[in-house]
Amino acid sequence: MNFDAFFNEKLEGLKKEGRYRVFMDLERHAGQFPRATRHVDGQQKPVTVWCSNDYLSMGQHPAVMAAMHEAIDRCGAGAGGTRNISGTNHYHVLLEAELADLHGKEAALLFNSGYMSNWTTLSTLATGLPNALVLSDAGNHASMIEGIRHSKAERIIFKHNDMADLESHLKIHSGKRPIIIVFESVYSMDGDFGKLAEIVTLAEKYGALTYLDEVHGVGLYGKRGGGLAEKLGLMHRIDVIEGTLAKAFGVVGGYITGSAALIDYVRSFASGFIFSSSLPPAVAAGAIAAIKHLKVSQMEREALFARVSAVRAGLERMGIPHMPNPSHIVPVRVGDAAKCKWISDYLLDHDGIYIQPINYPTVARGTERLRITPQPCHSEEDIAHLLKSLNALWQQCALARAVA
Ligand code: PLP
Repeated sequence: MNFDAFFNEKLEGLKKEGRYRVFMDLERHAGQFPRATRHVDGQQKPVTVWCSNDYLSMGQHPAVMAAMHEAIDRCGAGAGGTRNISGTNHYHVLLEAELADLHGKEAALLFNSGYMSNWTTLSTLATGLPNALVLSDAGNHASMIEGIRHSKAERIIFKHNDMADLESHLKIHSGKRPIIIVFESVYSMDGDFGKLAEIVTLAEKYGALTYLDEVHGVGLYGKRGGGLAEKLGLMHRIDVIEGTLAKAFGVVGGYITGSAALIDYVRSFASGFIFSSSLPPAVAAGAIAAIKHLKVSQMEREALFARVSAVRAGLERMGIPHMPNPSHIVPVRVGDAAKCKWISDYLLDHDGIYIQPINYPTVARGTERLRITPQPCHSEEDIAHLLKSLNALWQQCALARAVA
């Protein structure tokens, strides 16, 4: 077989569809977020980033950076091994305690990413629990879907946020086998909320285990940044709360929190935890600083939501269609991969505004969009510039109007 010919043919297919992924080569500027330098064709161009998931700009927070510098000086660069073989650094232990406290749980376990925490935990639980059934929301992230698939346990995908559909499956299977309900708090592409209270109530009624992905909620919702479940007073009624350190906490890594027994079980049986070298101590130190800060400071959350309101109000004024939702995510739906990329390229080249086009498989075909994520570090001038650019584009460009 001519392997490269095969790969190239597949890549050509992506290009024809307009969803070939081009990564932006960025150098972010600490202390000046959302400014970055874009490296392109040997040149350096300034950009303002409007699509980062560093939602609270904690990646440049002085306390986070100082903690990371200090940890490097104390412990060096890497952790030196898997958690079992010399790779448990004291910063990991402190961070797990911090996370357990954040979510009001007995214990926490760190992974190298949110993706790995979902994949590994769900595959381990659904494989281990005898004859388990997984009920998974149709909007769930790829990391959960893949973890569930890997377990080979039976899975039923219930309609997104549809409690009648969920209950119909619970009714049939409860009492006969262990059931895990898997769902998210903030669905990151539409920005809508999961029906946490309703799901938890059903889980209690039918004796199911609840697994909540708070990746887009932690740091952002709740008085201490414990996520949407904290805001709704539901943390104690959810069995597993999973999160990331890579978005509102500004660093990288993933985790689960839950009962001491469940966490110890995953720690002891999960291949994706056991056989992977642990996070660098400095990353854990940075995460601790970010979490501690956001447990007490409301400033970042307040600033973020003020920016979100300003962007939304501007879009409304200008008649630029955006998907309504209660969260911090502002999706502007375009509905066509090639057009979405064209608009994104135009904003970048003409106005130095970087908003990555979001295409299949991240979202369903026909729902391609620009996903705007305001941050506390966006100034009033940045917002005015964004709105002016979008408005000019929408006014001048019949294509953009039509796709809107
Ligand atoms: N869960 C959800 C809902 C996500 O959107 C993502 C990533 O964007 C992840 C998990 C993976 O988290 P991480 O980026 O830390 O791997």
